[in-house]
Amino acid sequence: MKSGYITELFSSFQGEGPYVGRRQIFIRFAGCPYSCFYCDTPSAKEPKPSVCTVFGNVRNNNNSFENPMSSHLVLELLTELRTPDLHSISYTGGEPLFYAAFVKEIAKGAREMHLKNYIETNGYSTRAFASLVDHFDFASIDIKLRCHQASTDYDKQYKNELECIRISAERGLETIVKVVVIKDTAIDEIEKICKDLVGLNIKFVLQPVTNESAQRDIVPGIKELFAISEIAGAFLPDVMVIPQVHKILHVP
Ligand code: SF4
Repeated sequence: MKSGYITELFSSFQGEGPYVGRRQIFIRFAGCPYSCFYCDTPSAKEPKPSVCTVFGNVRNNNNSFENPMSSHLVLELLTELRTPDLHSISYTGGEPLFYAAFVKEIAKGAREMHLKNYIETNGYSTRAFASLVDHFDFASIDIKLRCHQASTDYDKQYKNELECIRISAERGLETIVKVVVIKDTAIDEIEKICKDLVGLNIKFVLQPVTNESAQRDIVPGIKELFAISEIAGAFLPDVMVIPQVHKILHVP
């Protein structure tokens, strides 16, 4: 049985993308190899936190579990957090591909419990993604722009993102591609990304950065969002602009 490091486990509403408002149980895995300047989950970047915090009524309100946790314990906690309106399990982070074998074992167990699996990833490792993709129903994969300063090797990062997206779409997952948009985003970079995605069955989400997740005023204006959406729509059939709704609802 595999074990791994989880930062938080909780039930809430999906706050991003086309499934916004859907009830999910979120497994926030620890660790991330990137360093996006707007990161809104910096605490989840610590790869080996000593405890996992669970929000919700589990084990007589015991809300702190020692790491590393076994996949068996995680599956038991999913059962306790399950609600009648549950849409799916969200595997998020940090970066869930960091502990791919652990994630895969949980996803396999969740499927046996007739649950749907939804992975939210930055797509940094094609190999890790390919190893678990067949246990998932939905994949939300980020494309990081140069200005996000996610890694020191942009070309490798972009190649991995595109390859994860291609694998996801070709294996039949519902595939969501998300780009966080900041003020003065280079429109030709968005155009190039969209051209590279032509022909893949994906939903393309432009997500304006939220002010509280940024150090400075970098929120794009509405004219800029219209222009970026229009350029994306010239190449892709399913384009949407969706902000982070969980921050409006004040839920995790
Ligand atoms: S990939 Fe996600 S968790 Fe990692 S630094 Fe970027 S925003 Fe933060």
